Amino acid sequence: MSYENEHLVIIGASAAGAKAAAKAKRDYPGLNISMFTKEKYTSYSACGMPYYIKGEIKTLEELLVRTPEEFRKSGINVFTHHEILDINPAKKTIFAKNLQTQKIIEYPYTKLLIATGAKSITPNIEGINYNNIFQIRTLQDSINIKNAMQKAKTAAIVGIGYVGLELAEAFTYQGLNTKIIEKDSHIMNHLDDDMSDLLLDYTEKIPNIQTYINAHIKRFIPDNSGNVKQIEMKSGHIVDVDMVVIAIGVEPESKLAQSINLKLGPSGAIKVNEYMQTSIKDIFAAGDCTEKTHLVTQKPVFIPLGTTANKEGRIVAQNLFENRYPFKGVIGSAITKFYDFKAAIAGLGEEEAAKNNINYKSIVISDIDMSGYMPDAKKITMKLVAAKNSNRILGAQIVGEGNVTQRINAIATAISHGLTLDDYLKTDLPYAPPFSTSIDITLTAAQLLKEKV
Ligand SMILES: Cc1cc2nc3c(=O)[nH]c(=O)nc-3n(C[C@H](O)[C@H](O)[C@H](O)COP(=O)(O)OP(=O)(O)OC[C@H]3O[C@@H](n4cnc5c(N)ncnc54)[C@H](O)[C@@H]3O)c2cc1C
Repeated sequence: MSYENEHLVIIGASAAGAKAAAKAKRDYPGLNISMFTKEKYTSYSACGMPYYIKGEIKTLEELLVRTPEEFRKSGINVFTHHEILDINPAKKTIFAKNLQTQKIIEYPYTKLLIATGAKSITPNIEGINYNNIFQIRTLQDSINIKNAMQKAKTAAIVGIGYVGLELAEAFTYQGLNTKIIEKDSHIMNHLDDDMSDLLLDYTEKIPNIQTYINAHIKRFIPDNSGNVKQIEMKSGHIVDVDMVVIAIGVEPESKLAQSINLKLGPSGAIKVNEYMQTSIKDIFAAGDCTEKTHLVTQKPVFIPLGTTANKEGRIVAQNLFENRYPFKGVIGSAITKFYDFKAAIAGLGEEEAAKNNINYKSIVISDIDMSGYMPDAKKITMKLVAAKNSNRILGAQIVGEGNVTQRINAIATAISHGLTLDDYLKTDLPYAPPFSTSIDITLTAAQLLKEKV
């Protein structure tokens, strides 16, 4: 089949949209593909933005995975600065507004992919619109933050999830006096409290950082020119600032989907089946705008991550004309670092297991990440969670200054495939002094948890 009469139109040109375009062009060279974005840039690494702000990545260009020109060279039509205002599923057209000329065009499709991502949550706080209060979602946001940093001495980050934490490293590294403000009792609330405490202990060792926990903001106070100058807490405490970044999380960008009555899930993200098809024929959705299935609980979840968006974009391309490759779901694997301290999670922590009414058992152990006589050996702490009756591994959290990556990768594989502690104990993990102890911490934890009644 030549696919010359088929036209894939993609709304969104970031992780999910760009991956789908590239894969579809490779798999079906004759297929017409058009990709729209309201931004100036296509296919960039949002995940790399904190490191660009930090200065570790020197130029913006290094974050650009594929430019509009590169897409065009490979035969993909790209429309930047175009916002899609509406979809007509009956006629199979979309309405795109050129944000530079204000002209609106109606554009036909035979297959449509909605890959509109997520948008930053804006808290309802007095003064939120003053100058020098930023959010971080797009490449333009990171340019704006980097510019503001040049003139700032003191910055506040509101919301300390992984993005807030990565920004805190960027700001303190650049010498800014940095206040991290979290309304919950713990930072990085994907971690269980006991694991989060270890991270908090580490952050408090970094000079130039002040932590405000259980801190509720009452209002932002401006100077004479409308720039934020102070933050007033509900406690009455005043914090002086030259700039603020709000990083309290994201919500799905599902406005277009709602306007054509596509089915949404409980989180408000677009509901898709395992082939990434929506409730309307020939309309697919992928990335942060969609809901996923959690592989442990089998419940719908909103876990917006770049790695998943890329995988889903690829899956859409593979399933455009026939259902070939199902996407079964996620376990929320994530990893971040603050200077030398790393934090990684996969599957359910204790708190989530309890919330899901799962009868679980858990263990927390600390060890070094390689043979103790190696000069680079560093401590890591691992929590392993398993179902009490079946011994199925439910989740793990690993933190510390040592290598957590190889451990979380192994455990994530086990969780994704439903392995029990006994199954995992049969895993032949490699060992040499610079990489591991003779029995890796994950195997020790599995053994101890198995013995725990
Ligand atoms: C600072 C930061 C760090 C991150 N770090 C990590 C990390 O380390 N690991 C990880 O896995 N994930 C990370 N993420 C998350 C990751 O970036 C997102 O999950 C990923 O970008 C989602 O891709 P997406 O294609 O679904 O949506 P998005 O990247 O949000 O892209 C949406 C696209 O849709 C376009 N669009 C939306 N609405 C319209 C419309 N109406 N008309 C036209 N175009 C439209 C946008 O312009 C954009 O092109 C990070 C995110 C941020 C902000």
